[in-house]
Amino acid sequence: MQAIRGMIFICLMLFLGPPVWAGGGAPAVPAAKAKKETPSVKLPGTAIAALETITPDHIRWHVRYLSHDLLEGRGTGQRGGDVAAEYIATQFAEYGLKPAGDHGTYMQKVPLVGITTLPDTQFSLVPKRGETMNLKPLDEYVAYDQTQQPQSDVDADIVFVGYGIEAPEYNWDDYKGADVRGKVLLMLVNEPPSDDSRFFKGKALTYYGRWTYKYEEAVRKGAVGVILVHQEQMASYPWEVVRNSNSGEKSFLKVEGPALKVASWIHLDVAKRLASASGMSLDKMMQDAQSRDFHPVNMGASLKAHMVSKVRSFESNNVVAILPGSDRRVADEAVIYTAHYDHFGIRPEMPGDNIFNGALDNATGCGILLELARAFGASPQRPRRSILFAAVTAEEQGLLGSEYLGKHPPVPAGKITLDLNYDDVPPLGAPEEVDVSGAERTTFYPEVEATAKEFRLAIRPDARPEAGHFYRSDHFSMARVGVPAFSINEGMKFKGHPESWGLDQERQYVEKHYHQPSDEYHPEMDFVGDSAMARFGFALGWEAANLPKLIGWQRGDEFDAARVKSQQ
Ligand SMILES: [Zn+2]
Repeated sequence: MQAIRGMIFICLMLFLGPPVWAGGGAPAVPAAKAKKETPSVKLPGTAIAALETITPDHIRWHVRYLSHDLLEGRGTGQRGGDVAAEYIATQFAEYGLKPAGDHGTYMQKVPLVGITTLPDTQFSLVPKRGETMNLKPLDEYVAYDQTQQPQSDVDADIVFVGYGIEAPEYNWDDYKGADVRGKVLLMLVNEPPSDDSRFFKGKALTYYGRWTYKYEEAVRKGAVGVILVHQEQMASYPWEVVRNSNSGEKSFLKVEGPALKVASWIHLDVAKRLASASGMSLDKMMQDAQSRDFHPVNMGASLKAHMVSKVRSFESNNVVAILPGSDRRVADEAVIYTAHYDHFGIRPEMPGDNIFNGALDNATGCGILLELARAFGASPQRPRRSILFAAVTAEEQGLLGSEYLGKHPPVPAGKITLDLNYDDVPPLGAPEEVDVSGAERTTFYPEVEATAKEFRLAIRPDARPEAGHFYRSDHFSMARVGVPAFSINEGMKFKGHPESWGLDQERQYVEKHYHQPSDEYHPEMDFVGDSAMARFGFALGWEAANLPKLIGWQRGDEFDAARVKSQQ
Protein backbone atom coordinates (compact mmCIF):
# COMPACT_ATOMS: atom_id res chain seq x y z
CA MET A 1 0.00 0.00 0.00
CA GLN A 2 2.78 2.34 0.86
CA ALA A 3 4.29 1.99 -2.55
CA ILE A 4 0.96 2.69 -4.18
CA ARG A 5 0.41 5.85 -2.18
CA GLY A 6 3.94 6.84 -3.07
CA MET A 7 3.20 6.53 -6.78
CA ILE A 8 0.09 8.67 -6.62
CA PHE A 9 1.99 11.26 -4.67
CA ILE A 10 4.79 11.30 -7.24
CA CYS A 11 2.34 11.67 -10.09
CA LEU A 12 0.51 14.52 -8.43
CA MET A 13 3.83 16.19 -7.86
CA LEU A 14 4.71 15.72 -11.47
CA PHE A 15 1.67 17.49 -12.68
CA LEU A 16 1.75 20.42 -10.33
CA GLY A 17 4.16 22.29 -12.53
CA PRO A 18 3.24 25.26 -14.73
CA PRO A 19 -0.27 24.80 -16.15
CA VAL A 20 0.86 23.74 -19.61
CA TRP A 21 -2.37 21.76 -20.06
CA ALA A 22 -4.58 24.80 -19.75
CA GLY A 23 -5.95 23.76 -16.40
CA GLY A 24 -9.34 22.61 -15.16
CA GLY A 25 -11.78 21.12 -17.63
CA ALA A 26 -10.86 23.51 -20.41
CA PRO A 27 -10.12 21.93 -23.78
CA ALA A 28 -6.54 20.93 -24.43
CA VAL A 29 -4.62 23.62 -26.20
CA PRO A 30 -3.13 22.06 -29.30
CA ALA A 31 0.55 22.79 -29.34
CA ALA A 32 0.27 23.73 -33.00
CA LYS A 33 1.05 27.41 -32.63
CA ALA A 34 3.47 27.29 -29.76
CA LYS A 35 6.82 26.72 -31.43
CA LYS A 36 8.30 24.10 -29.21
CA GLU A 37 11.84 24.36 -27.88
CA THR A 38 12.04 21.75 -25.16
CA PRO A 39 9.07 19.45 -25.24
CA SER A 40 7.15 19.11 -22.02
CA VAL A 41 4.19 16.96 -21.10
CA LYS A 42 1.07 18.67 -22.40
CA LEU A 43 -1.95 17.10 -20.81
CA PRO A 44 -5.21 18.81 -19.94
CA GLY A 45 -6.40 18.58 -16.36
CA THR A 46 -9.07 16.04 -17.25
CA ALA A 47 -6.42 13.79 -18.79
CA ILE A 48 -4.39 13.93 -15.62
CA ALA A 49 -7.48 13.14 -13.60
CA ALA A 50 -8.14 10.14 -15.89
CA LEU A 51 -4.52 9.03 -15.65
CA GLU A 52 -4.71 9.10 -11.88
CA THR A 53 -7.58 6.62 -11.84
CA ILE A 54 -5.18 3.96 -13.20
CA THR A 55 -4.43 1.60 -10.32
CA PRO A 56 -2.35 -1.52 -9.74
CA ASP A 57 -5.37 -3.46 -8.51
CA HIS A 58 -7.41 -2.89 -11.67
CA ILE A 59 -4.55 -4.51 -13.58
CA ARG A 60 -4.21 -7.24 -10.98
CA TRP A 61 -7.80 -8.43 -11.38
CA HIS A 62 -7.50 -8.72 -15.16
CA VAL A 63 -4.26 -10.69 -14.79
CA ARG A 64 -5.81 -12.92 -12.15
CA TYR A 65 -8.76 -13.74 -14.39
CA LEU A 66 -6.94 -14.06 -17.72
CA SER A 67 -4.31 -16.38 -16.27
CA HIS A 68 -6.79 -18.54 -14.35
CA ASP A 69 -6.64 -22.29 -15.07
CA LEU A 70 -10.22 -22.05 -16.38
CA LEU A 71 -8.88 -20.04 -19.34
CA GLU A 72 -6.70 -23.00 -20.23
CA GLY A 73 -3.67 -20.96 -21.25
CA ARG A 74 -5.48 -18.85 -23.89
CA GLY A 75 -4.31 -21.03 -26.77
CA THR A 76 -4.74 -19.69 -30.31
CA GLY A 77 -7.67 -21.47 -31.90
CA GLN A 78 -8.53 -23.08 -28.55
CA ARG A 79 -11.55 -22.47 -26.37
CA GLY A 80 -9.58 -20.65 -23.63
CA GLY A 81 -8.20 -18.17 -26.17
CA ASP A 82 -11.71 -17.44 -27.40
CA VAL A 83 -12.97 -16.95 -23.83
CA ALA A 84 -10.17 -14.43 -23.23
CA ALA A 85 -11.08 -12.56 -26.45
CA GLU A 86 -14.74 -12.45 -25.40
CA TYR A 87 -13.77 -11.13 -21.95
CA ILE A 88 -11.67 -8.35 -23.49
CA ALA A 89 -14.45 -7.40 -25.94
CA THR A 90 -16.93 -7.25 -23.04
CA GLN A 91 -14.65 -4.91 -21.12
CA PHE A 92 -14.24 -2.66 -24.17
CA ALA A 93 -18.03 -2.45 -24.45
CA GLU A 94 -18.41 -1.66 -20.77
CA TYR A 95 -15.88 1.17 -21.09
CA GLY A 96 -18.00 2.73 -23.82
CA LEU A 97 -15.53 2.10 -26.66
CA LYS A 98 -16.82 1.55 -30.18
CA PRO A 99 -16.21 -1.74 -32.02
CA ALA A 100 -13.47 -1.53 -34.68
CA GLY A 101 -13.50 -5.15 -35.87
CA ASP A 102 -15.42 -6.91 -38.65
CA HIS A 103 -19.06 -5.98 -39.40
CA GLY A 104 -19.53 -3.67 -36.43
CA THR A 105 -18.12 -6.14 -33.88
CA TYR A 106 -15.05 -6.02 -31.66
CA MET A 107 -13.65 -9.12 -33.38
CA GLN A 108 -11.29 -9.04 -36.35
CA LYS A 109 -11.13 -12.56 -37.72
CA VAL A 110 -7.57 -13.79 -38.35
CA PRO A 111 -7.45 -16.72 -40.80
CA LEU A 112 -4.63 -19.10 -39.88
CA VAL A 113 -3.15 -22.25 -41.33
CA GLY A 114 -1.19 -24.90 -39.48
CA ILE A 115 1.38 -26.68 -41.67
CA THR A 116 3.11 -29.93 -40.80
CA THR A 117 5.79 -31.19 -43.17
CA LEU A 118 5.13 -34.92 -43.52
CA PRO A 119 7.70 -37.77 -43.70
CA ASP A 120 6.95 -38.40 -47.41
CA THR A 121 8.75 -35.16 -48.19
CA GLN A 122 11.95 -35.54 -50.21
CA PHE A 123 14.69 -32.95 -50.29
CA SER A 124 17.69 -33.55 -52.54
CA LEU A 125 20.61 -31.42 -53.60
CA VAL A 126 21.96 -32.31 -57.02
CA PRO A 127 25.50 -30.93 -57.41
CA LYS A 128 27.42 -30.38 -60.63
CA ARG A 129 29.49 -33.51 -60.02
CA GLY A 130 29.16 -36.46 -57.76
CA GLU A 131 26.16 -38.02 -56.19
CA THR A 132 22.79 -36.55 -55.40
CA MET A 133 22.57 -35.65 -51.73
CA ASN A 134 19.30 -36.94 -50.29
CA LEU A 135 19.08 -35.01 -47.05
CA LYS A 136 17.83 -36.33 -43.73
CA PRO A 137 14.99 -34.29 -42.22
CA LEU A 138 15.75 -32.42 -38.98
CA ASP A 139 19.39 -33.57 -38.84
CA GLU A 140 20.44 -32.07 -42.16
CA TYR A 141 17.57 -29.81 -43.20
CA VAL A 142 14.21 -28.38 -42.18
CA ALA A 143 11.62 -27.14 -44.69
CA TYR A 144 8.08 -25.78 -44.94
CA ASP A 145 5.89 -25.26 -47.97
CA GLN A 146 4.61 -21.73 -47.54
CA THR A 147 2.19 -21.98 -50.46
CA GLN A 148 0.04 -24.00 -48.02
CA GLN A 149 -0.65 -26.72 -50.59
CA PRO A 150 -0.75 -30.39 -49.59
CA GLN A 151 1.90 -31.13 -52.25
CA SER A 152 4.45 -29.10 -54.21
CA ASP A 153 7.35 -30.04 -56.45
CA VAL A 154 10.47 -28.03 -57.06
CA ASP A 155 13.26 -28.79 -59.52
CA ALA A 156 15.26 -25.61 -59.93
CA ASP A 157 18.78 -24.18 -60.15
CA ILE A 158 20.41 -23.03 -56.95
CA VAL A 159 21.77 -19.49 -56.99
CA PHE A 160 23.98 -18.25 -54.14
CA VAL A 161 22.90 -14.70 -53.26
CA GLY A 162 25.19 -13.94 -50.31
CA TYR A 163 23.11 -12.45 -47.49
CA GLY A 164 20.07 -12.07 -49.76
CA ILE A 165 19.74 -8.39 -48.83
CA GLU A 166 18.75 -5.37 -50.87
CA ALA A 167 19.12 -2.27 -48.67
CA PRO A 168 19.41 0.97 -50.63
CA GLU A 169 19.94 3.05 -47.46
CA TYR A 170 23.19 1.15 -46.83
CA ASN A 171 24.10 1.08 -50.51
CA TRP A 172 23.92 -2.71 -50.38
CA ASP A 173 22.43 -5.02 -53.01
CA ASP A 174 23.23 -8.73 -53.10
CA TYR A 175 20.96 -9.31 -56.09
CA LYS A 176 22.43 -6.68 -58.46
CA GLY A 177 19.37 -6.98 -60.65
CA ALA A 178 19.88 -10.70 -61.36
CA ASP A 179 16.79 -12.50 -62.60
CA VAL A 180 16.12 -15.14 -59.96
CA ARG A 181 12.56 -15.94 -60.96
CA GLY A 182 11.86 -19.64 -60.57
CA LYS A 183 15.21 -20.21 -58.82
CA VAL A 184 16.12 -21.56 -55.42
CA LEU A 185 18.25 -19.07 -53.48
CA LEU A 186 21.03 -20.21 -51.20
CA MET A 187 21.86 -17.54 -48.62
CA LEU A 188 23.59 -16.74 -45.37
CA VAL A 189 21.84 -15.76 -42.16
CA ASN A 190 22.31 -12.40 -40.43
CA GLU A 191 23.84 -9.39 -42.21
CA PRO A 192 27.32 -8.20 -43.24
CA PRO A 193 29.35 -7.81 -40.01
CA SER A 194 30.30 -4.28 -39.04
CA ASP A 195 31.20 -2.04 -36.13
CA ASP A 196 30.15 1.08 -38.01
CA SER A 197 26.84 2.29 -36.61
CA ARG A 198 25.98 3.80 -40.01
CA PHE A 199 26.32 0.44 -41.73
CA PHE A 200 23.50 -1.98 -40.82
CA LYS A 201 23.51 -0.26 -37.42
CA GLY A 202 26.88 -1.74 -36.50
CA LYS A 203 26.54 -4.62 -34.08
CA ALA A 204 22.79 -4.15 -33.71
CA LEU A 205 20.65 -6.49 -35.78
CA THR A 206 18.44 -4.82 -38.37
CA TYR A 207 15.42 -6.45 -39.94
CA TYR A 208 17.59 -7.31 -42.96
CA GLY A 209 19.37 -9.83 -40.78
CA ARG A 210 16.23 -11.75 -39.86
CA TRP A 211 15.37 -14.86 -41.82
CA THR A 212 11.78 -13.67 -42.24
CA TYR A 213 13.04 -10.70 -44.28
CA LYS A 214 15.13 -13.00 -46.45
CA TYR A 215 12.15 -15.20 -47.28
CA GLU A 216 10.02 -12.14 -48.04
CA GLU A 217 12.63 -10.56 -50.30
CA ALA A 218 13.05 -13.84 -52.20
CA VAL A 219 9.29 -13.95 -52.79
CA ARG A 220 9.35 -10.37 -54.06
CA LYS A 221 12.08 -11.41 -56.50
CA GLY A 222 10.02 -14.34 -57.76
CA ALA A 223 12.10 -17.18 -56.33
CA VAL A 224 10.41 -20.54 -55.62
CA GLY A 225 12.63 -21.56 -52.74
CA VAL A 226 15.15 -20.40 -50.18
CA ILE A 227 17.86 -22.43 -48.49
CA LEU A 228 19.39 -20.69 -45.48
CA VAL A 229 22.81 -21.86 -44.41
CA HIS A 230 22.86 -22.24 -40.66
CA GLN A 231 26.04 -21.13 -39.01
CA GLU A 232 25.88 -20.99 -35.24
CA GLN A 233 27.99 -17.89 -34.77
CA MET A 234 26.13 -15.91 -37.41
CA ALA A 235 22.69 -17.03 -36.32
CA SER A 236 23.58 -16.59 -32.62
CA TYR A 237 21.78 -19.84 -31.82
CA PRO A 238 22.64 -23.52 -32.38
CA TRP A 239 21.15 -25.89 -34.99
CA GLU A 240 18.92 -27.38 -32.25
CA VAL A 241 16.98 -24.13 -32.12
CA VAL A 242 16.40 -24.21 -35.88
CA ARG A 243 15.44 -27.84 -35.64
CA ASN A 244 13.02 -27.37 -32.73
CA SER A 245 11.31 -24.33 -34.13
CA ASN A 246 10.90 -26.01 -37.52
CA SER A 247 9.51 -29.38 -36.50
CA GLY A 248 5.89 -30.29 -35.99
CA GLU A 249 3.04 -28.00 -36.88
CA LYS A 250 3.87 -24.41 -37.60
CA SER A 251 1.27 -21.66 -37.95
CA PHE A 252 1.04 -19.07 -40.68
CA LEU A 253 -1.42 -16.42 -41.76
CA LYS A 254 -3.54 -17.78 -44.59
CA VAL A 255 -1.48 -16.97 -47.66
CA GLU A 256 -2.72 -13.93 -49.62
CA GLY A 257 -0.18 -13.77 -52.44
CA PRO A 258 2.86 -15.52 -53.92
CA ALA A 259 4.86 -17.69 -51.51
CA LEU A 260 7.85 -20.02 -51.34
CA LYS A 261 7.31 -23.69 -52.14
CA VAL A 262 10.41 -24.43 -50.11
CA ALA A 263 11.39 -22.26 -47.14
CA SER A 264 14.30 -24.14 -45.63
CA TRP A 265 17.48 -24.26 -43.58
CA ILE A 266 20.43 -26.60 -44.08
CA HIS A 267 23.15 -27.59 -41.66
CA LEU A 268 26.55 -25.95 -42.20
CA ASP A 269 28.18 -29.31 -43.04
CA VAL A 270 25.67 -29.91 -45.81
CA ALA A 271 26.37 -26.48 -47.26
CA LYS A 272 30.09 -27.25 -47.25
CA ARG A 273 29.55 -30.54 -49.07
CA LEU A 274 27.29 -28.88 -51.64
CA ALA A 275 29.85 -26.13 -52.24
CA SER A 276 32.77 -28.49 -52.75
CA ALA A 277 30.75 -30.82 -55.01
CA SER A 278 29.99 -27.69 -57.04
CA GLY A 279 33.71 -26.90 -57.33
CA MET A 280 33.49 -24.06 -54.81
CA SER A 281 34.46 -23.42 -51.22
CA LEU A 282 31.91 -22.29 -48.67
CA ASP A 283 34.53 -20.31 -46.75
CA LYS A 284 35.43 -18.42 -49.91
CA MET A 285 31.73 -17.85 -50.71
CA MET A 286 31.14 -16.46 -47.22
CA GLN A 287 34.14 -14.20 -47.65
CA ASP A 288 32.95 -12.93 -51.03
CA ALA A 289 29.51 -12.21 -49.59
CA GLN A 290 30.98 -9.57 -47.31
CA SER A 291 31.81 -7.32 -50.21
CA ARG A 292 29.59 -4.65 -51.75
CA ASP A 293 30.75 -5.96 -55.13
CA PHE A 294 29.32 -9.42 -54.55
CA HIS A 295 27.28 -10.80 -57.47
CA PRO A 296 24.88 -13.76 -57.37
CA VAL A 297 26.51 -17.04 -58.37
CA ASN A 298 24.69 -19.78 -60.21
CA MET A 299 26.11 -22.87 -58.53
CA GLY A 300 25.37 -25.27 -61.35
CA ALA A 301 23.55 -27.36 -58.75
CA SER A 302 19.83 -27.84 -58.28
CA LEU A 303 17.27 -28.58 -55.61
CA LYS A 304 14.86 -31.41 -56.23
CA ALA A 305 12.15 -31.33 -53.61
CA HIS A 306 8.84 -33.06 -53.21
CA MET A 307 7.01 -31.31 -50.39
CA VAL A 308 4.17 -33.15 -48.68
CA SER A 309 2.30 -31.26 -45.98
CA LYS A 310 -0.66 -31.59 -43.70
CA VAL A 311 -2.64 -28.35 -44.00
CA ARG A 312 -5.05 -27.43 -41.21
CA SER A 313 -7.12 -24.22 -41.40
CA PHE A 314 -8.30 -22.57 -38.23
CA GLU A 315 -9.11 -19.09 -37.00
CA SER A 316 -8.75 -16.76 -34.10
CA ASN A 317 -9.60 -13.11 -33.46
CA ASN A 318 -7.91 -9.83 -32.75
CA VAL A 319 -10.10 -7.78 -30.40
CA VAL A 320 -10.26 -4.18 -31.56
CA ALA A 321 -11.99 -1.08 -30.20
CA ILE A 322 -11.84 2.65 -30.86
CA LEU A 323 -12.42 5.83 -28.90
CA PRO A 324 -13.21 8.49 -31.53
CA GLY A 325 -11.10 11.62 -31.41
CA SER A 326 -12.59 14.96 -30.37
CA ASP A 327 -11.21 17.05 -33.23
CA ARG A 328 -13.05 16.39 -36.49
CA ARG A 329 -10.04 17.52 -38.53
CA VAL A 330 -7.81 14.73 -37.22
CA ALA A 331 -10.27 12.20 -35.77
CA ASP A 332 -9.60 9.94 -38.79
CA GLU A 333 -6.04 9.59 -37.45
CA ALA A 334 -5.22 7.45 -34.43
CA VAL A 335 -2.86 6.27 -31.74
CA ILE A 336 -2.97 2.50 -31.24
CA TYR A 337 -2.23 0.47 -28.13
CA THR A 338 -1.45 -3.23 -28.61
CA ALA A 339 -0.89 -6.28 -26.39
CA HIS A 340 -1.18 -9.95 -27.29
CA TYR A 341 -3.66 -12.01 -25.32
CA ASP A 342 -2.74 -15.49 -26.61
CA HIS A 343 -0.39 -17.93 -24.95
CA PHE A 344 0.41 -21.61 -25.49
CA GLY A 345 -2.88 -23.07 -24.28
CA ILE A 346 -3.19 -26.50 -22.78
CA ARG A 347 -1.17 -29.60 -23.73
CA PRO A 348 -3.32 -32.59 -22.77
CA GLU A 349 -0.53 -35.13 -23.40
CA MET A 350 1.81 -33.43 -20.95
CA PRO A 351 1.92 -35.00 -17.45
CA GLY A 352 1.36 -32.80 -14.38
CA ASP A 353 0.50 -29.12 -14.76
CA ASN A 354 -0.11 -28.73 -18.48
CA ILE A 355 -1.80 -25.33 -18.58
CA PHE A 356 0.38 -22.51 -19.89
CA ASN A 357 -1.29 -19.72 -17.91
CA GLY A 358 0.88 -16.92 -19.25
CA ALA A 359 0.31 -14.61 -16.28
CA LEU A 360 3.25 -12.39 -17.12
CA ASP A 361 3.28 -13.36 -20.81
CA ASN A 362 1.00 -11.60 -21.53
CA ALA A 363 -1.93 -11.25 -19.13
CA THR A 364 0.04 -8.31 -17.68
CA GLY A 365 0.07 -6.51 -21.06
CA CYS A 366 -3.67 -7.20 -21.46
CA GLY A 367 -4.37 -5.90 -17.96
CA ILE A 368 -2.52 -2.70 -18.84
CA LEU A 369 -4.29 -2.41 -22.21
CA LEU A 370 -7.69 -2.83 -20.52
CA GLU A 371 -6.85 -0.34 -17.79
CA LEU A 372 -5.78 2.18 -20.44
CA ALA A 373 -9.03 1.57 -22.32
CA ARG A 374 -11.01 2.12 -19.13
CA ALA A 375 -9.15 5.32 -18.23
CA PHE A 376 -9.49 6.82 -21.73
CA GLY A 377 -13.13 5.76 -21.91
CA ALA A 378 -13.94 7.35 -18.56
CA SER A 379 -12.28 10.67 -19.34
CA PRO A 380 -14.90 13.41 -19.84
CA GLN A 381 -12.62 14.98 -22.40
CA ARG A 382 -11.07 13.06 -25.28
CA PRO A 383 -7.80 13.58 -27.17
CA ARG A 384 -7.95 15.13 -30.64
CA ARG A 385 -7.06 12.00 -32.56
CA SER A 386 -8.81 8.68 -32.06
CA ILE A 387 -7.41 5.98 -29.78
CA LEU A 388 -7.41 2.35 -30.95
CA PHE A 389 -7.03 -0.61 -28.62
CA ALA A 390 -6.05 -3.98 -30.07
CA ALA A 391 -5.62 -7.19 -28.09
CA VAL A 392 -3.97 -9.36 -30.72
CA THR A 393 -3.81 -13.13 -31.12
CA ALA A 394 -1.19 -15.66 -32.20
CA GLU A 395 1.85 -13.69 -31.04
CA GLU A 396 3.43 -16.87 -29.74
CA GLN A 397 2.98 -18.41 -33.21
CA GLY A 398 5.17 -15.70 -34.74
CA LEU A 399 3.43 -12.31 -34.33
CA LEU A 400 0.64 -13.50 -36.62
CA GLY A 401 -2.31 -11.59 -35.14
CA SER A 402 -0.46 -8.29 -35.24
CA GLU A 403 0.84 -9.08 -38.74
CA TYR A 404 -2.76 -9.45 -39.86
CA LEU A 405 -3.71 -6.24 -38.02
CA GLY A 406 -0.86 -4.40 -39.76
CA LYS A 407 -2.03 -5.68 -43.15
CA HIS A 408 -5.69 -4.93 -42.39
CA PRO A 409 -5.66 -1.98 -39.98
CA PRO A 410 -9.01 -0.47 -38.88
CA VAL A 411 -7.47 2.95 -39.63
CA PRO A 412 -5.06 3.15 -42.61
CA ALA A 413 -1.44 2.60 -41.48
CA GLY A 414 -0.42 6.00 -42.85
CA LYS A 415 -2.90 7.63 -40.47
CA ILE A 416 -1.79 5.78 -37.36
CA THR A 417 0.60 8.12 -35.64
CA LEU A 418 2.00 5.72 -33.03
CA ASP A 419 1.76 2.17 -31.69
CA LEU A 420 2.55 1.57 -28.03
CA ASN A 421 2.84 -2.13 -27.21
CA TYR A 422 2.96 -4.00 -23.91
CA ASP A 423 4.39 -7.50 -23.65
CA ASP A 424 5.32 -9.28 -20.43
CA VAL A 425 5.54 -6.51 -17.84
CA PRO A 426 6.67 -8.22 -14.61
CA PRO A 427 4.82 -7.32 -11.38
CA LEU A 428 7.92 -6.51 -9.34
CA GLY A 429 7.09 -3.20 -7.66
CA ALA A 430 7.96 0.41 -8.42
CA PRO A 431 10.32 0.82 -11.40
CA GLU A 432 12.94 3.54 -11.60
CA GLU A 433 13.65 2.87 -15.27
CA VAL A 434 11.69 2.44 -18.46
CA ASP A 435 12.67 0.47 -21.56
CA VAL A 436 11.39 2.05 -24.76
CA SER A 437 13.87 0.51 -27.23
CA GLY A 438 13.13 1.74 -30.73
CA ALA A 439 11.54 5.01 -29.57
CA GLU A 440 14.85 6.76 -30.27
CA ARG A 441 14.35 5.95 -33.95
CA THR A 442 11.12 7.96 -34.14
CA THR A 443 10.47 11.71 -34.31
CA PHE A 444 8.53 11.31 -31.05
CA TYR A 445 11.65 10.67 -28.99
CA PRO A 446 12.00 14.18 -27.51
CA GLU A 447 8.49 13.83 -26.05
CA VAL A 448 9.32 10.34 -24.77
CA GLU A 449 12.41 11.67 -23.03
CA ALA A 450 10.54 14.61 -21.51
CA THR A 451 7.71 12.38 -20.30
CA ALA A 452 10.10 9.85 -18.79
CA LYS A 453 11.77 12.71 -16.96
CA GLU A 454 8.48 13.95 -15.56
CA PHE A 455 7.70 10.43 -14.39
CA ARG A 456 11.21 10.19 -12.91
CA LEU A 457 11.97 7.15 -14.99
CA ALA A 458 15.45 6.77 -16.44
CA ILE A 459 15.46 5.43 -20.00
CA ARG A 460 17.34 2.15 -20.07
CA PRO A 461 19.17 1.48 -23.33
CA ASP A 462 18.79 -1.91 -25.06
CA ALA A 463 21.57 -4.01 -23.51
CA ARG A 464 21.91 -6.36 -26.50
CA PRO A 465 20.77 -4.71 -29.72
CA GLU A 466 22.52 -7.49 -31.65
CA ALA A 467 19.91 -9.94 -30.32
CA GLY A 468 17.23 -8.12 -32.30
CA HIS A 469 14.56 -8.02 -29.58
CA PHE A 470 12.89 -5.19 -31.44
CA TYR A 471 11.81 -7.69 -34.10
CA ARG A 472 10.27 -10.13 -31.65
CA SER A 473 7.16 -8.45 -30.35
CA ASP A 474 3.95 -7.12 -31.84
CA HIS A 475 4.98 -3.48 -32.26
CA PHE A 476 7.31 -4.75 -34.99
CA SER A 477 4.30 -5.81 -37.10
CA MET A 478 3.13 -2.21 -37.04
CA ALA A 479 6.64 -0.86 -37.74
CA ARG A 480 6.81 -3.05 -40.85
CA VAL A 481 3.85 -1.22 -42.34
CA GLY A 482 5.49 2.08 -41.42
CA VAL A 483 3.76 2.94 -38.14
CA PRO A 484 6.17 4.42 -35.55
CA ALA A 485 6.04 1.73 -32.88
CA PHE A 486 7.76 0.47 -29.77
CA SER A 487 7.10 -1.46 -26.59
CA ILE A 488 6.99 0.04 -23.13
CA ASN A 489 8.44 -1.99 -20.29
CA GLU A 490 10.25 -1.60 -17.00
CA GLY A 491 14.02 -1.55 -16.92
CA MET A 492 16.04 -3.45 -14.32
CA LYS A 493 16.17 -0.96 -11.47
CA PHE A 494 13.34 -1.13 -8.93
CA LYS A 495 12.73 1.03 -5.90
CA GLY A 496 14.43 -0.30 -2.78
CA HIS A 497 16.63 -2.76 -4.69
CA PRO A 498 19.99 -2.61 -6.42
CA GLU A 499 20.09 -3.24 -10.17
CA SER A 500 21.48 -6.73 -9.54
CA TRP A 501 18.14 -7.65 -7.93
CA GLY A 502 16.24 -6.74 -11.09
CA LEU A 503 18.69 -8.66 -13.26
CA ASP A 504 18.39 -11.63 -10.94
CA GLN A 505 14.58 -11.53 -11.11
CA GLU A 506 14.76 -11.56 -14.88
CA ARG A 507 17.24 -14.41 -14.98
CA GLN A 508 15.10 -16.52 -12.66
CA TYR A 509 11.99 -15.81 -14.70
CA VAL A 510 13.68 -16.77 -17.96
CA GLU A 511 15.14 -19.95 -16.48
CA LYS A 512 12.16 -21.18 -14.50
CA HIS A 513 8.92 -19.71 -15.79
CA TYR A 514 9.22 -18.14 -19.26
CA HIS A 515 7.00 -20.12 -21.65
CA GLN A 516 6.39 -22.71 -18.90
CA PRO A 517 3.18 -23.75 -17.11
CA SER A 518 4.61 -22.08 -13.99
CA ASP A 519 4.11 -18.58 -15.41
CA GLU A 520 1.17 -18.22 -13.02
CA TYR A 521 -0.59 -15.55 -10.96
CA HIS A 522 0.28 -15.23 -7.26
CA PRO A 523 -1.58 -12.89 -4.87
CA GLU A 524 1.68 -11.47 -3.53
CA MET A 525 2.62 -10.05 -6.93
CA ASP A 526 3.06 -6.27 -6.86
CA PHE A 527 1.43 -4.49 -9.82
CA VAL A 528 2.64 -1.00 -8.97
CA GLY A 529 5.13 -1.18 -11.84
CA ASP A 530 2.46 -2.29 -14.30
CA SER A 531 0.35 0.65 -13.19
CA ALA A 532 3.31 3.01 -13.61
CA MET A 533 3.91 1.70 -17.13
CA ALA A 534 0.21 2.17 -17.93
CA ARG A 535 0.28 5.77 -16.66
CA PHE A 536 3.43 6.51 -18.61
CA GLY A 537 1.88 5.02 -21.76
CA PHE A 538 -1.35 6.92 -21.15
CA ALA A 539 0.57 10.21 -21.07
CA LEU A 540 2.54 9.32 -24.21
CA GLY A 541 -0.57 8.23 -26.10
CA TRP A 542 -2.49 11.36 -25.17
CA GLU A 543 0.41 13.57 -26.19
CA ALA A 544 0.82 11.74 -29.50
CA ALA A 545 -2.90 12.06 -30.17
CA ASN A 546 -2.71 15.82 -29.68
CA LEU A 547 0.53 16.65 -31.50
CA PRO A 548 0.20 19.06 -34.43
CA LYS A 549 1.68 16.52 -36.86
CA LEU A 550 1.79 12.77 -37.33
CA ILE A 551 4.86 11.04 -35.92
CA GLY A 552 7.40 9.49 -38.30
CA TRP A 553 10.54 7.38 -38.30
CA GLN A 554 13.84 9.22 -38.44
CA ARG A 555 14.88 9.84 -42.01
CA GLY A 556 16.83 6.85 -43.36
CA ASP A 557 15.52 4.47 -40.73
CA GLU A 558 14.77 1.01 -42.12
CA PHE A 559 11.00 1.60 -41.62
CA ASP A 560 10.99 5.12 -43.06
CA ALA A 561 10.41 3.93 -46.62
CA ALA A 562 7.31 1.99 -45.54
CA ARG A 563 6.05 5.09 -43.71
CA VAL A 564 6.51 7.30 -46.75
CA LYS A 565 4.80 4.73 -48.98
CA SER A 566 1.84 4.41 -46.59
CA GLN A 567 1.25 8.15 -46.75
CA GLN A 568 1.37 8.63 -50.52
ZN1 LIG B 1 5.77 -15.35 -25.10
